[in-house]
Amino acid sequence: MDAYAAVGRVYNFSAGPAVLPLPVLEQAQREMLALPGCGISVLEISHRSKPFEAILMDAQARLKALLQVPDNYRILFLQGGARLQFSMIPMNLARGTGKPADYILTGSWGKNAMKEAKRECEVRVAWDGQATNYDHLPTPAELQLSPDAAMVHMTSNETIQGVQFTTPPDVGNAPLVCDASSDFLSRPVSIDRFGVIYACAQKNVGPAGVTVVVIREDLLERSQDTLPGYLNFSIHAAENSLWNTPPSFAVYIVGLVAKWLQEEIGGLAKMQDLNHQKAALLYQAIDGSQGFYRGHSRPECRSMMNVTFRLATPELEADFLAEAAEQGLVSLKGHRSVGGVRASIYNAMPLAGVEKLRDHMLAFAQRRA
Ligand SMILES: *Cc1c(COP(=O)(O)O)cnc(C)c1O
Repeated sequence: MDAYAAVGRVYNFSAGPAVLPLPVLEQAQREMLALPGCGISVLEISHRSKPFEAILMDAQARLKALLQVPDNYRILFLQGGARLQFSMIPMNLARGTGKPADYILTGSWGKNAMKEAKRECEVRVAWDGQATNYDHLPTPAELQLSPDAAMVHMTSNETIQGVQFTTPPDVGNAPLVCDASSDFLSRPVSIDRFGVIYACAQKNVGPAGVTVVVIREDLLERSQDTLPGYLNFSIHAAENSLWNTPPSFAVYIVGLVAKWLQEEIGGLAKMQDLNHQKAALLYQAIDGSQGFYRGHSRPECRSMMNVTFRLATPELEADFLAEAAEQGLVSLKGHRSVGGVRASIYNAMPLAGVEKLRDHMLAFAQRRA
């Protein structure tokens, strides 16, 4: 019996909230009633107390070390999910500048982000992959960037379509803003390529409730004091994410996930290798199926996090999903806008879970092709 079956767990391929590392859940369980040396639960502790301050600073320090965040960036823990950042970022970076914000649209989330930005500033589409239902990325020559943009927004991994940038596009001098909600901490990144990189936690980093924002310090000067306090980046930076009560439990879990990445995985380069290994198993099953499984993304833009594919008919897809569930492989249904199957194989999905899914894919194709 594997470690999952031993504690009654199935393999959860949900896009989010998503699987967390088992050792993290176990540590949280052990410490639930009383934090070591503190005697109260993290759920009960004052956010102004020394032990909680230590938890928050430890989570920040671990993220900084993992991502090699340069000293001129700040790491914030905010609420409201990635969706609030869709508003808050153009509100702080573009509102009132008279300059447009450019959006690179490689899938549904980029489009949602742009919709909110339209309430804050002039918005321009630098590229839109809609014509082919968001199955690929732009080439550098295809990007139509404004010479005077206040910011350029991209989505590093489109969670719904399963399309992922390997390196950020070159966008000139405007600060590049990246929604990394579904691939944050999945691989090393050059933070200095970005003005802002942000991620809701519940895909790859922790539980729902906290959003991590990494922002270059000089951009904080753009926040105008006409903004509501909570929506002002410079206030959160000045108060080190303790202006008001942060989502303390979620911050604690983010710290444990970062510790797991450092101490058990061995850093983001190792995590990337493991993620490549896991994704390759599924893409090989797709490519070797003689068309029984058809990937949504073009091969060169395939996501290492969300593997999206279709079968010939909705009936066949329903059978595939039902038989998967019987084997403890759950939450594999694709998003309604793409259909088919979506296997989200974030950092915490064990190789054993992916192997089991691959085996189901091979066996099902053999039976039904
Ligand atoms: C899930 C997701 C979001 C939305 O996050 P919320 O926390 O629900 O607001 C935004 N962008 C991407 C890329 C996502 O995967």
